[in-house]
Amino acid sequence: MKAIILKRLRERSLLRRHPWIFSGAIASVEGKPKMGETVDIITAEGAVLARGAFSPESQITVRVWTFDPGEEISPEFFHGRLERAIESRRALMSGEGPCGVRLVNAESDGLPGLVVDRYGDYLVVQFLSAGADHWKGSIAEALSRLVPALGVYERSDADVREKEGLPKIAGVLAGNEPGDLVEIQEGRCRFLVDIKRGHKTGFYLDQRENRGMIAEFAREKQVLNCFSYTGGFGVAALQAGAARVTNVDSSANALELARLNAEVNRIDAARMENVEGDAFSLLRRWRDEGRTFDTIVLDPPKFAESQSQLLRASRGYKDVNLLAFKLLKPGGTLFTFSCSGLMTGELFQKIVADAALDAGREAQIIRRLTQASDHPTLLSFPEGTYLKGFICRTAANR
Ligand code: SAH
Repeated sequence: MKAIILKRLRERSLLRRHPWIFSGAIASVEGKPKMGETVDIITAEGAVLARGAFSPESQITVRVWTFDPGEEISPEFFHGRLERAIESRRALMSGEGPCGVRLVNAESDGLPGLVVDRYGDYLVVQFLSAGADHWKGSIAEALSRLVPALGVYERSDADVREKEGLPKIAGVLAGNEPGDLVEIQEGRCRFLVDIKRGHKTGFYLDQRENRGMIAEFAREKQVLNCFSYTGGFGVAALQAGAARVTNVDSSANALELARLNAEVNRIDAARMENVEGDAFSLLRRWRDEGRTFDTIVLDPPKFAESQSQLLRASRGYKDVNLLAFKLLKPGGTLFTFSCSGLMTGELFQKIVADAALDAGREAQIIRRLTQASDHPTLLSFPEGTYLKGFICRTAANR
């Protein structure tokens, strides 16, 4: 029998169905399990509580597959879990045109370390934990049976793989290799997705609903889309009648794709300006030049990877939000986000409040935003919520 025995009283989080066991909670490992293999999870008193995947190199040494100690972890188990996750996204897949949908959101879909995104006829998969990686073959096979796709592409090249002792890899898992760009439809917008080289699995699907919300603040407006990636919020604003959008990103490739995204949506190129560079210095320069916008989107990358980086990250969020408030016209609207899981909503609100104060602007939160519904959070796994955002309206006079 392969098992881990918990230290005394360390089963409390498991009884609340939290799926992670940290190395510090483990008294002993029995039966020499190999990386990714299934182990029984046993209390100091000898009660079998759950079964999970063993990951000796990670701080998170076990991730729970099931809280039913009698359930076998087999190809059928993965077929069942995948089917349930995919079924819950049916409505998102029944729209017009090729969809962009997250089919499996890891822990929150009962499949720790596994991410599956669908872009039209292609599936993109990330195996981010030793356990998910161990079952790669069964998962790929079940996916091929459950979703008709031309191909399944693996993007297991995220940094978190290193914490699990897994190499970064990417490539075709099944079927055809996707072309350089795959098109999806999101509301009134079409987007080209670079599955093979883009960020994450190619696109920020988590912002789908929030991109949809910019329409209300776009008509005839001058919009600044900062940290634009491939122009998502910008294209959505232009489709809703924005006068002009300025995309800012440090990646030339992302901006080239923003230009192509305007093209596939038949948007006049003159309505989209793409500026490559560091957002902090560009915004500072525009502030000094007295440039202003009606609507600003700030969607920076994850500034805090660990608790020790949180203070520095907070300064980054504060600076960029302060600059945005300075660039906003009176009565303007700010969409501001943080995708750092370690940043709480409460702290983020304080930071944005400080930024407004220092900019000498009065503002209200008119909406609180989070990740789209295909990126759910299991109630017993609050870590699943990482994206926080506010729509802020600034006062009409300073
Ligand atoms: N809002 C986008 C996703 C933004 S992801 C969407 O809806 O698709 C964050 C982006 O910030 C990435 O494209 C990254 O290239 C860019 N970025 C990171 N650091 C930056 C910096 N200092 N200045 C400008 N852009 C930066």
